[in-house]
Amino acid sequence: MFAVTAANGVRLQLHDGQRHHEVIDAMASWWCQIHGYRSPALDEALNRQSSQFSHVMFGGLTHKAAVDAVMSLVNLAPGSLDRVFLADSGSVGVEVSLKLARQVQIARTAARGGTLTRTRIAALRGAYHGDTLGAMSVCDPLGGMHAMFSDSIPQQIFLPRPPTFAANEADVEAWCSAADEILDAHRDDLAGIIVEPILQGAGGMWPWSPSCLRHLRRRADELDLVLIADEVATGFGRTGKLFACEWADIVPDIMVVGKSMTGGYLTQSAVLCSDELASEVSRGPGGSLMHGPTFMGNPLASAVTAASLAIISQGQWHDDVTRIADVMSRELRPLRDVPGVSDIRVFGAIAAVQLDTPIVMRRATRAAVENGVWLRPFRDLVYAMPPYICTDDDLKAMAAGMRAVVIDQLDAA
Ligand SMILES: *Cc1c(COP(=O)(O)O)cnc(C)c1O
Repeated sequence: MFAVTAANGVRLQLHDGQRHHEVIDAMASWWCQIHGYRSPALDEALNRQSSQFSHVMFGGLTHKAAVDAVMSLVNLAPGSLDRVFLADSGSVGVEVSLKLARQVQIARTAARGGTLTRTRIAALRGAYHGDTLGAMSVCDPLGGMHAMFSDSIPQQIFLPRPPTFAANEADVEAWCSAADEILDAHRDDLAGIIVEPILQGAGGMWPWSPSCLRHLRRRADELDLVLIADEVATGFGRTGKLFACEWADIVPDIMVVGKSMTGGYLTQSAVLCSDELASEVSRGPGGSLMHGPTFMGNPLASAVTAASLAIISQGQWHDDVTRIADVMSRELRPLRDVPGVSDIRVFGAIAAVQLDTPIVMRRATRAAVENGVWLRPFRDLVYAMPPYICTDDDLKAMAAGMRAVVIDQLDAA
């Protein structure tokens, strides 16, 4: 365990009880700190807001910070996703999206005068959507934490993991038929479909085929299902598009964003949907979305969200992400023919090296820090999701650290 004594730009100052270490943060603090630590614009926004007020309830009251955050989100969002619910974290955002999808079906059933059967959610094998019970129910049932809690989480429907980003037509078609079979069998009990568009993150850094996402969009329309895009990891440029759904040219019915939304300064997430969907819920039983967290629209978090999105709106992220992908591809290439390395995947500002064997964590962390990089491998993956502001030299140092960790792991195996 290391104590962080300072953080600035892309660097963390660590102390291990005996020695001081300076490391480049390849994790961007679990993928959030896209503008780096102590970003002048974000510091300023936070300080300005804290000198006014830090929190007020968000029921019957509103404030400029939340209005600014929501307006920036709506301006960036695809299609007509112009209704926004501010939630506390990615997991809570996912919970809200699942409840919203359920309430849409409750409202539709009530409008038809039928009996509600559409209560379940279809998710993908390999998915990760968060750690609360509802979110856990749509995570991969084996790779996730399901087994231990299976008596207390809703039983959902799982589609196979889609083939890789550049999959050929035959693989895409095989997946589509397999997915169709499951969706058709459950057409009367499904409320919606949830996916991490185009990149599964914590489930294994897996870029998947845009054709499969387009297929799910089509099927959701045909079967009257609510399509939820969990862009908590992929949103705000990480994959090379502002939102990963753009890779497939589709607009989801509900989009969840979080993580880098506040530039990683504070915990806040948002759930977006169309005016039409929100109105359907308002006309249904209950009259509104059944959710209202205490810290909804927190002014400090909203102020940094607005400042973070103002930076995103300037568009520099696109060149940065392209550059990160180029440098990381080039710098990780020497690992390609190393025995024990099974795959190297660079997709946008995400670079993952997969080994044949699971990573020995303690050893990996020590080797990374000795090489001046902060890494947090999982399972068989050594990966980087760096801040967008990394310079080419930072990236070269980061890749050198990753190579050192991989070689050290293989030597020890
Ligand atoms: C991190 C993550 C979440 C959960 O967000 P928290 O803020 O950790 O609750 C949900 N979905 C995806 C895709 C994530 O990467």
